[in-house]
Amino acid sequence: MFENLSDRLSGVFDRLTKQGALSEADVATALREVRVALLEADVSLPVARDFIKAVQEKATGQAVTKSVTPGQQVVKIVHDELVHVLQGDEDPGALKIDNPPAPILMVGLQGGGKTTTTAKIAKRLKERDGKKILMASLDVNRPAAMEQLAILGAQIGVDTLPIVKGEDPVAIARRAKTQASLGGYDVYMLDTAGRLSIDEELMAQVEAVRDVANPRETLLVVDGLTGQDAVTTAENFDDRIGITGVVLTRMDGDGRGGAALSMRAVTGRPIRFVGLGEKMDALETFEPDRVAGRILGMGDIVALVEKAQETIEAEQAERMMKRFQKGQFNMNDLRGQLEQMEKMGGVEGLMGMMPGMSKMKGKLDEAGFDDKVIRRQIALIQSMTKKERANPQILQASRKKRIAKGAGMEVSDLNKLLKMHRQMSDAMKKMGKMGKKGMMKSLGG
Ligand code: GDP
Repeated sequence: MFENLSDRLSGVFDRLTKQGALSEADVATALREVRVALLEADVSLPVARDFIKAVQEKATGQAVTKSVTPGQQVVKIVHDELVHVLQGDEDPGALKIDNPPAPILMVGLQGGGKTTTTAKIAKRLKERDGKKILMASLDVNRPAAMEQLAILGAQIGVDTLPIVKGEDPVAIARRAKTQASLGGYDVYMLDTAGRLSIDEELMAQVEAVRDVANPRETLLVVDGLTGQDAVTTAENFDDRIGITGVVLTRMDGDGRGGAALSMRAVTGRPIRFVGLGEKMDALETFEPDRVAGRILGMGDIVALVEKAQETIEAEQAERMMKRFQKGQFNMNDLRGQLEQMEKMGGVEGLMGMMPGMSKMKGKLDEAGFDDKVIRRQIALIQSMTKKERANPQILQASRKKRIAKGAGMEVSDLNKLLKMHRQMSDAMKKMGKMGKKGMMKSLGG
């Protein structure tokens, strides 16, 4: 039996010692194990290697937070990177089905779940998008497969193209196209024949069908349990036919999901849906978060990661608060605040959120401060030297001129910034003297 990836990882992470920061050596040791585990979870070697490299860079030197263990922290980094690799730019559930009748070509090996998935997607398009769908089976060598699609169609209330004995797949595809146009269908789905393994005859046939149908979407259906084989299948189909997406079936089983990661990394094609059972409803839009959790083998990974994130943010806020209490509010702090402001939707958006800021609104107005100015304020701070940022009092007239010029502004602009900084810094000091309790009170009120 393979050891669960989750067991492996937690074993590794438990050995990480609690220190100030994640050291390069610690991270390297942990990631060597993660790499082995990924390979065992059927992630291909080059993909695992790239993945580890990315995580190594992100993890090394990260401050260890107090309330999560280094292990949890590394899990979070590994998880985030998994999601990053798995996630494409596209919305996985949004199939290109404008310009009716839109053809969808379903391809894959026999037994992968192609016919079942065809019907599942038809049902979804019908129920969620109100589309009128026509399904056609092109599996002329297996009458049972054609029957199966007809039965599923009847079950979900979706039309299937009547079966005509002796017709070849290309002729069926043509007939489906005509029927879809005449019958006012939005989408027609072509369920191509499968084989037990990839062979030339199959590829030539699918290619011929593709050329006739000119599909908007070509979805490869693969058994998620077949690991590395699934990736090879995807590569082959993509090279020869050109796929627009992948559906991973049998994700309800206890496969380790490594195929998803390799598939995405190797083909660059998005995973669109996952099959989660034999029933017609057992199809879900691909969610990188969940699959990442699955690869890590931890059902509650998302909750864990969220908690880690919250904790990390809370600790950052607390560190800042401590500095303010000591009256340490230099230009770097101001820049940090300004950048936060930009991110959070400007002055108004931030007023209610920032410690003591509600009290300072008047002062900011007085200093001629508004959203448009934020960028320029940051530019001014950037023009200062490290020393000047830490201690702006040392600024002489000549330096002020240079800084203003460097940022494309007037000395008066810089003076306004300095005044604002002084006022904020004074206010911080006052709050600091009130002590933490007083500070909290003033924030709350
Ligand atoms: P095809 O040969 O590729 O068309 O495969 P089928 O659609 O006939 O599916 C083969 C078997 O796999 C059938 O018994 C399906 O019910 C089953 N199957 C398909 N998708 C899933 C899935 O996501 N989970 C599970 N557990 N079974 C599935």
